[in-house]
Amino acid sequence: MTHRSADERRYTTIVERLKDADHRLTPQRLAIIELLTHADYHPSAQQLHQQLLPRFPSTSLATVYKTLHILTDLGEVLELGFSDDDTRYDARTTVPHIHLICVQCRRIIDTDIQPDPHLIEQLKQHSGYRILGHRIEFYGLCPDCQDNSGT
Ligand SMILES: [Zn+2]
Ligand SMILES: [Zn+2]
Repeated sequence: MTHRSADERRYTTIVERLKDADHRLTPQRLAIIELLTHADYHPSAQQLHQQLLPRFPSTSLATVYKTLHILTDLGEVLELGFSDDDTRYDARTTVPHIHLICVQCRRIIDTDIQPDPHLIEQLKQHSGYRILGHRIEFYGLCPDCQDNSGT
């Protein structure tokens, strides 16, 4: 399953949003957006920083965080906080979606599977909450890690 054209569209949308909000479009900033929209593993700020260094050796981690904060404020990036791990970032879609998390390699992937609407309806009725969104994560071993665990 490839998301190439969708990734390109997300990249263009985010760059336009930054422009409209009068944020500077530095080469580093554009590179961060490119990495975020084309990465399918939900990178952390540290991972983004490591990937930028070969192209922009003077980029600081603070620059990466600053860009991530701007994008989060604009609602173009979802922050996924974990108690035992770094915060991970998702710019490929701002629509809530179910995540699959590998407990071994820490890869986080998106799924197109939607949660059962009956579940959300039941939660509403039981709690009286007006449900605004959800965060659903499944933990396990990705196919690569299952292959490696036997050897
Ligand atoms: Zn894995
Ligand atoms: Zn995601």
